[in-house]
Amino acid sequence: MAQGKKGKLNFRCPQCFMRDIDIDLFYDDKKKEYYCLRCCFHGDEKKVLAWNETIKEKYGHILDRLTDLGADNEPATYHPYSKGEL
Ligand SMILES: [Zn+2]
Repeated sequence: MAQGKKGKLNFRCPQCFMRDIDIDLFYDDKKKEYYCLRCCFHGDEKKVLAWNETIKEKYGHILDRLTDLGADNEPATYHPYSKGEL
C-alpha cells in the first residue's frame, strides 16, 4: 500500500459517496481489493458494486415528483417526472 494505484476500473468510494463525498478508490495488487484513502472502506469489485446498489436507494427517486406525503403511517406517493411539468 506504499504506492496507491488506481484499478483497471475507476470506482468511487461508496461509503464516502453516501456522505456526499466524491473520492476515487485505489487498488491494492497484493490483496486484490479496492480501498479508500479517506475512510476504512475496502473490498473486491463485487463488494463495491453491491454497495453502489445501496446508494441507488438514496437517489433512486431523483427523477420522480412527490404528489402526496401521506398521513403518519401511509406511504408517500410519487410519479415519474415528465418534461414541461412543474
Ligand atoms: Zn471512503
